[in-house]
Amino acid sequence: MERIVLAKGRDWSVHNRHPWVFGGAVAEGSAGPGESVEVFSSSGERLGVGWYSPKSEIRVRMVAFGADEVSIPALVSASVGRRADFFVNSYTNAVRLVNAESDGLPGVVVDCYDGYAVCQFTSAGAEANKREIADALMKYVPMCRAVCERSDVRERTKEGLECGGFSVLAGEEPPEFVEIFEGGCKFLVDVRNGHKTGFYLDQRDARAIVGAVCNGAEVLNAFSYTGGFGLFARAAGAAKVTQVDISSEALALAKRNEALGHSCGTEMEYVEADVFEYLRKCRDSGRKFDVIVLDPPKFASSHRALERAARGYKDINLLAMKLLRANGCLATFSCSGAMSREFFFKVLSQAAADAGRGFQVVSTMRQAADHPVALSFPEGFYLKGALIRAI
Ligand code: SAH
Repeated sequence: MERIVLAKGRDWSVHNRHPWVFGGAVAEGSAGPGESVEVFSSSGERLGVGWYSPKSEIRVRMVAFGADEVSIPALVSASVGRRADFFVNSYTNAVRLVNAESDGLPGVVVDCYDGYAVCQFTSAGAEANKREIADALMKYVPMCRAVCERSDVRERTKEGLECGGFSVLAGEEPPEFVEIFEGGCKFLVDVRNGHKTGFYLDQRDARAIVGAVCNGAEVLNAFSYTGGFGLFARAAGAAKVTQVDISSEALALAKRNEALGHSCGTEMEYVEADVFEYLRKCRDSGRKFDVIVLDPPKFASSHRALERAARGYKDINLLAMKLLRANGCLATFSCSGAMSREFFFKVLSQAAADAGRGFQVVSTMRQAADHPVALSFPEGFYLKGALIRAI
């Protein structure tokens, strides 16, 4: 293994188990893309083992700390083992099995849909080790039918990796749509072309929290994707659900998902529109709602883009706040990692002030428990949400 020596005074974060070593922190040594390297402090102390990436600003991603050695099968089996509860409870058959850095496997995301594991490899080390990772998943995931790869992820370019499509690394070819269940709802997941690995598993807990305030309500599910929040609202007995998304494919799948579930008489409406425009249309026509969900895509991909993103968040939240009936609830989210929870709440407060209405926070929400965040890696905390009630 090549040796990497860090510059003087640049070893404290690795000491504290932060997994990233930036190029500027490396004083000596190099290696090929994805190769394992031993990392030392300037005084010669062994800090651990990492994956080297010559093209990336993040030059080394740590996979073992201190005197520990790396075993990919052990890391995969430990990560899967931490989700044992998901395999014994019957709430869902779709779970994130590996959450990258926070599970000790930098740049490795694995979501499993009814036995079909779908991976994204976004670091050079993850790419170099993907065969071993796939073999370990086949071995350790209960009732694993296949391990597939989605390499259509833009982050790969930062690591000098090519962006490809979908491929099966091990096991059987998955069906066109994998059917999953979550609570009382069923969803079809397009593991080849759907967003991320096919479904927003990170919103699982939030879908249940929001569903709980939807009985009898008129609900607007803005940025609906394949209907998640809206179908939870329907299962909870909403009077009417309006699903709005800009993608016709997402809405087509949302309709098919509706057909998989039971109706308690909820009226369902599907609107292909830009949410920014749709909210203004509702304002102009005087339409009101009891519950509004705002789950937009990432507006800020970097700290530099934060100010512009904040304007976007404020715009949609202000509009939504004004469309709520008295005692109505707004479930609002930001999945921009660059935006802190504090900043997001500041934007919400400003929007409420401009809307001229009082709100109380009923719940705060975060990414579901199968998307844990290592305490030493706060960057892993990206999804924040609030359920607020107009008073
Ligand atoms: N709430 C969903 C996930 C939402 S992902 C769930 O629980 O599954 C964000 C969605 O916003 C995507 O489906 C994308 O197509 C849609 N989208 C992005 N920009 C949009 C816009 N300006 N107007 C409407 N929808 C948009």
